[in-house]
Amino acid sequence: SKTAYVRTKPHLNIGTMGHVDHGKTTLTAAITKVLSDRGTGTFVPFDRIDKAPEEAQRGITINIAHVEYETDTRHYAHVDMPGHADYVKNMVTGAAQLDGAILVVSALDGVMPQTAEHVLLARQVGVDHVVVAINKADAGDDELTDLVELEVRELLTAHGYGGDAAPVVRVSGLRALEGDPRWTAAIEALLDAVDTYVPTPVRYTDAPFLLSVENVLTITGRGTVVTGAIERGTIRVQDRVELLGADSGPRTTVVTGLETFGKPMEYAEAGDSVALLLRGLPRDGVRRGHVVAAPGSVVPRTRFTAQVYVLSSREGGRTTPVSTGYRPQFYIRTADVVGDVDLGEQAVARPGDQVAVTVELGRAVPLEPGLGFAIREGGRTVGAGTITEVL
Ligand code: GDP
Ligand code: MG
Repeated sequence: SKTAYVRTKPHLNIGTMGHVDHGKTTLTAAITKVLSDRGTGTFVPFDRIDKAPEEAQRGITINIAHVEYETDTRHYAHVDMPGHADYVKNMVTGAAQLDGAILVVSALDGVMPQTAEHVLLARQVGVDHVVVAINKADAGDDELTDLVELEVRELLTAHGYGGDAAPVVRVSGLRALEGDPRWTAAIEALLDAVDTYVPTPVRYTDAPFLLSVENVLTITGRGTVVTGAIERGTIRVQDRVELLGADSGPRTTVVTGLETFGKPMEYAEAGDSVALLLRGLPRDGVRRGHVVAAPGSVVPRTRFTAQVYVLSSREGGRTTPVSTGYRPQFYIRTADVVGDVDLGEQAVARPGDQVAVTVELGRAVPLEPGLGFAIREGGRTVGAGTITEVL
C-alpha cells in the first residue's frame, strides 16, 4: 500500500546550524515549501519541524526533525537543529553523517556565540562543507548585511573553511514561506549552492553494516523500531544483526522491516536515514546510543586514547583548567557516556589547549580510531576530540 522508496539520485545528509532565533526552522520550512511548489518535495510546516519527535511519531518513521526533499540532482535528508543545549547531542555526534551544513546567520544580528560554536564543532567532527544563508535579508539594510557577510567569511576562514570561497546567499525564510517570488528565488539559489558546493560523498557501502541508534519507538502489533543514519555498509530485510551496548551484552536479532521517511525499502546503504523493525526485541532492550551492526564486526570497549581540544571560555567552554580525574560526559556517535579522563604527564589542560588523553568510559561502546566525539558538562560543550587508539 505504501509507495516504495526509489533510489534515482545520490542521497546526502545536510543540516541547518546557527544561533537561536536566526531562523533555522523557518528556513527549513521554506525550503520544503519551495520544493513542494516545484513538485519534488512535501511541504513541512514550521510547527511540525519544531515539535519534539516523541510527540509526532506514528508508524515506522523517523525523527520528525528530519525532513526530506529532492532537487534536480539529489535526494536530501535535512536535519533542523533543535535548541542549542541539544545541539551536540542531536547533531554534532551524528555529524559523521552530515555531508554538509547550511549555516544560518541573521542579517540583523550577525555572528553570535552559537554561530561560532556550531562552526567550531562542525569543523571538529569533520563537516567539510558549509554554505551560508544570511537570513532575514528582507528586514536588514544592504550595508549592514555586507558587514555580516564579511564577518561570517572571517569566522569560516578562522576555522579552516576557506571563507572566501564559501557560497553566501541572502535569503528570507519568512518571505519565501509566504510565497514572495523574490525570496522564493533566493531559496532556489541557496539550494543550487548546496547542490554544487557540497560534493557527493564517498560511501562505505562495502564495509560491515553499522547504525548508531538515534531513537526507539514501539509500533503496536509490530514491535520495536530503531531509527538512525547508516554509518557504513548495507542492510536488507531478513538480514541478521547484532545489537550492542546493552548491559546484558550483545544480542542477535533479524531486521523484519526497513523504511526511510515512511517508505519501505528493499535495501538501504551508508548515508541513508532509516527505521529498522527488529524481531523479538522488547522496548526496553534498546536505547539511544546502542549500535546495530553486522554480527561480529565490532566489539564494545571502554578505554581509548584521544586527541582533545578543550574549548576556550570565549568559545563557550570552561573558564578553569581540567586535571586527571575529570569526569565529564562523552558523546560518541549517539551514545552519551560518562568517562574518566587521565591527562598523563601533562598535569592540567587549560581552556584553549590541545591535549592527548586516556579515557575510561563508564560503559562499553563500539570504538575505533578516527571516531570523533564531543565532551559535555553541565549542559554545555567543553571539548571535542578524536580517538587515536582503542586500548
Ligand atoms: P531558529 O531558532 O533558528 O529555528 O529560528 P526560527 O525559525 O524559530 O525563527 C525565529 C524568529 O525569527 C521567528 O519569529 C521567525 O518568524 C523570525 N524569522 C525567521 N526567518 C525570518 C526572515 O527571513 N525574516 C524575518 N523578518 N523574520 C524571520
Ligand atoms: Mg528552530
